[in-house]
Amino acid sequence: MAKNLYEILGVPKTASEDEIKKAYRKKVVAYHPDKFAGASEKEKKDAEAKCKEINHAYEVLSNPQKRSNYDQFGSEDGPQGFGGASGEGGGFGGFEDILSSFFGGNFGGKKNPNAPRQGEDIHVKINLTFEEAYSGTSKALRLNREEVCATCGGSGAKDAQSIKVCQYCRGTGVVQKTQQSIFGQQVVQTVCSNCGGKGKVIEEKCATCRGNGYSRKEASVKINIPAGVDNGVTMTVRNEGHCGRNGGARGNLVIAVGVAQSPKFRRVGNDLYYDLSIGFYDATCGGEILIETMKGEAKCKIPESTQSGTKIRLKGYGMKVLQKEMYGDLYVIVKVETPKGLSNKQIKLLKEFEDSLSDSQYPQIKKSKKTGRFGK
Ligand SMILES: [Zn+2]
Ligand SMILES: [Zn+2]
Repeated sequence: MAKNLYEILGVPKTASEDEIKKAYRKKVVAYHPDKFAGASEKEKKDAEAKCKEINHAYEVLSNPQKRSNYDQFGSEDGPQGFGGASGEGGGFGGFEDILSSFFGGNFGGKKNPNAPRQGEDIHVKINLTFEEAYSGTSKALRLNREEVCATCGGSGAKDAQSIKVCQYCRGTGVVQKTQQSIFGQQVVQTVCSNCGGKGKVIEEKCATCRGNGYSRKEASVKINIPAGVDNGVTMTVRNEGHCGRNGGARGNLVIAVGVAQSPKFRRVGNDLYYDLSIGFYDATCGGEILIETMKGEAKCKIPESTQSGTKIRLKGYGMKVLQKEMYGDLYVIVKVETPKGLSNKQIKLLKEFEDSLSDSQYPQIKKSKKTGRFGK
């Protein structure tokens, strides 16, 4: 029966631990039950037997004590008849462990519960006025934040003497069970249910945090909002979230920014748009008009013969560009307003004026002459 364990894994007797592990993984993948889903019963049985063999070979050769016994005495248990302490609990790197390391950890997903973990992020929304977004502002945010318990320093225990090594797993955080599976008898490692994998238990809990190691506290965090933020932007302030576990870093503070609309300006990127209504006279003769901008009043030059829809650019009167010493532009969109409710006298004057115009003074209308001008 006794097939050489090294041959089963296809490694030389001098193979290192690493080489053995690699060879084992390769073999296990080759005989994995998934590969034989559509195979005949006999093929499945053979693959299963092969898997058992591989698994046993690895169990022995991956354990320095067992391997040395095997090398010396041809048996993992040492010299025959020498008290067969096979020591099921002593094996390391169980089958499940290896599988989970390359199948994405679905075999129990062991995460070290004692490892430092980053705290959770805190999400808040702040609403700014248009002016605040333009010039930037600072806000004091009140947060209900998890903080490391000051009484126990995060251990959750009343004092150091209350932290005891878990008796179930003897401090390792894992327990090993023998299980029947498709591969035959398997030694399976599971997280110790007594200590949740921590390897230690708390006999008397900290009264302040009731054993959690952290508690919620009101915190006021001042944040600076840079000039130029736009509606819908998300800002992340690092290390202002909930406290970490086991000494891990804090989470982040994630701020969703809302900016109110301006009654005067439309924002497009860093540019602003402003609608300006002017009369027929100003549109025709041109001039300077004072308009409101985010920087205060500014002169807007209206050229002669300005048409409705003309876009006039005021350079640098737009929004501040985030994180840059630059501003967008302000575009003034001119609308020529036609007067309402004219008196007979006004209409007469207008008619007189209209009749006095030559076609060359109305180049656009001249182009569409077909429809002709109509009027009273
Ligand atoms: Zn505490
Ligand atoms: Zn335990």
